Amino acid sequence: MSELLPERAVLLRDHVREAAAGLRDAGMEIDRDPTAVDRWLHLPAVALMRGCTVPVEYVSSPLRIGPYTYDMSSCLEHTLTIEELSYGDAGFMLACPGPLMSGVAVGALGDDKQRHAYYQRLAGPEPTWTFFGLTEPGKGSAAAELETALTPDGDGFRLDGAKRYVGNAAFAQLGVVFCRRAPGPLGIEAVLVDTETPGFRAEPIPTVGMRGARISAITLDNVRVEREQILGYDTLKPSRRGLVGAIRTLQRFRPVLAGTALGLTRAVLDHVRAERPALAGAARQCLDDLQDRLDAARWHNYAIASAIDAGEVRADRIAAVKTRAAELAERATLAAAGLLGPGALLRDPWLHKVYRDARAFEFMEGTGHIQRLAVFQGVAKGTFLP
Ligand SMILES: Cc1cc2nc3c(=O)[nH]c(=O)nc-3n(C[C@H](O)[C@H](O)[C@H](O)COP(=O)(O)OP(=O)(O)OC[C@H]3O[C@@H](n4cnc5c(N)ncnc54)[C@H](O)[C@@H]3O)c2cc1C
Repeated sequence: MSELLPERAVLLRDHVREAAAGLRDAGMEIDRDPTAVDRWLHLPAVALMRGCTVPVEYVSSPLRIGPYTYDMSSCLEHTLTIEELSYGDAGFMLACPGPLMSGVAVGALGDDKQRHAYYQRLAGPEPTWTFFGLTEPGKGSAAAELETALTPDGDGFRLDGAKRYVGNAAFAQLGVVFCRRAPGPLGIEAVLVDTETPGFRAEPIPTVGMRGARISAITLDNVRVEREQILGYDTLKPSRRGLVGAIRTLQRFRPVLAGTALGLTRAVLDHVRAERPALAGAARQCLDDLQDRLDAARWHNYAIASAIDAGEVRADRIAAVKTRAAELAERATLAAAGLLGPGALLRDPWLHKVYRDARAFEFMEGTGHIQRLAVFQGVAKGTFLP
């Protein structure tokens, strides 16, 4: 797999792999208590997450390996970083402070002033958690139909509505809220919101798996928004803001999320091999088959992330690799539970955790059905299969 990657990417991958080596204990603790990330902020993995997509000029000691400096603005390098950290623990990675998806949205849509303020805050000495608020209770996958309202109010606006299943929102200091200023897809805006603003409330939602994502329900009740909080309001046409920003962020982030699912899958297969080194026959074949599928999906994911870096966004292929990665994570955990024998999920708390965590990928960044619609459109247009 290394031969597909440029030297600087290989060096980065090996560096992150080391940082991910000690994450499983932290991940298990966060699974029991999602606020526990506060006790692990000294870990090198946290520093990596805090720096991901923050331009090097804002960071006091940017990541340097050999002759290279990294800020993960490259989709491939971001994907590799997240894959390796997720091999350590996906839940821990998602609980970390840092820009995560909100950074990609601000990078894609914000004007110079907005980006500067955002990056300065993220690079500050205190860890800052962020959120990306798109999903709504009644709308789910139908992001274009969102109802959270941005209404003119004097020389600014006010924000009213609700968001659901938003990672880290109850713990974050700031984030991006997608909302509607006018009817239709061009009426959607992305607004940077400080969670201390009166009228903003967020509460954690208890979940069975991926507790590190700390998904939350947000209520927005008459939240004051200044014009300069609307991403790209003064620099981009309405047709290039809001929904376009959400879609662009999701497309840029899907290989990263696929990397999360693939990192978890690799961890599960390695775990089975370590626990059952003598597996033979059909059991060995099952494991080998999953490994082949994993290698193929990783190859596709790296190719897609590299294409995004080259300015080529292939929505159908991005959707396909995200779906395949999510399916593989589920299949690998199901297979592992079988291969490790009766009672494995009870005996093996780590397996039990990843078994629950893997179910989240189906929903994160769009369900399998929605991704399959994008693949179908690609097949119909003749772009999916060369
Ligand atoms: C761990 C985790 C973290 C998350 N983090 C965030 C976050 O940070 N920010 C955020 O905004 N959201 C986040 N989400 C929410 C996630 O994006 C949503 O779960 C997703 O958009 C699906 O919405 P829903 O759960 O309401 O399901 P629905 O959209 O209601 O879908 C339910 C079912 O209906 C199917 N379906 C829906 N529409 C169609 C259609 N048109 N055609 C065919 N089938 C359809 C779906 O495939 C699915 O099977 C997170 C979710 C999870 C699990």
